[in-house]
Amino acid sequence: MLYDAHCHCSELDGKYNVVVAAVSMDLKTSMKTLNMKGVLRGVGIHPWNAGNGELERVKELVERADFIGEVGLDYRLSKASREVQIKYFQEFLLPDKTVNIHALDAWEDAFNLALRHGVKRAIFHWYTGPQTLLKDIEGAGYFITINPSVTFQEKHQKILDVAPLEIILTESDGGYVYRGRLLEPNMVKDALQFISKRKGVDEGELERVIERNFVKAFGTSSNILPRE
Ligand SMILES: [Zn+2]
Repeated sequence: MLYDAHCHCSELDGKYNVVVAAVSMDLKTSMKTLNMKGVLRGVGIHPWNAGNGELERVKELVERADFIGEVGLDYRLSKASREVQIKYFQEFLLPDKTVNIHALDAWEDAFNLALRHGVKRAIFHWYTGPQTLLKDIEGAGYFITINPSVTFQEKHQKILDVAPLEIILTESDGGYVYRGRLLEPNMVKDALQFISKRKGVDEGELERVIERNFVKAFGTSSNILPRE
């Protein structure tokens, strides 16, 4: 089985034979995600939308969701100030829910905030941050995702080279258009095959490791997940 730890299903209508964690960007997509079946459902406000005034209404949806996300900080592309981004992000850092985090150019701040708020399960999606932070991520029991772009994105490849398998999940960031190509859940297969070759691990064995990581990262609360 393939596992997609970060996908914008609200932007896609295809059916995929992949276990998917569906993330949201704002109130509208959070409500849409909550109505989906056969996926893990995440609600949140993306750092690009921080300050949009939907904080309270999205927070009310959290208890109905399987996890929180996509939330985080983006010091490169978000138009919101760092203060506003941090304010929004902190509101979603709950100890008992998995948090699916976007942290472009803000990796350390996002990690430190998650830790400080007692978050037990966090996923740093499409990780391209400092290699030194990987040790801390591992130490905290958190995870990173590897995106299919790893097949050509050198920065991401370097992360893969040093990250232990125990902290790795696969993702598609489906629904997002990257370098002119629409990303979709079935593309996690490309990531899986690349990781297998680069790490010298048999593909079947790698699939099992990623399955185990996925179950750990999202908890076993949902009935769409295989039990540990
Ligand atoms: Zn995303």
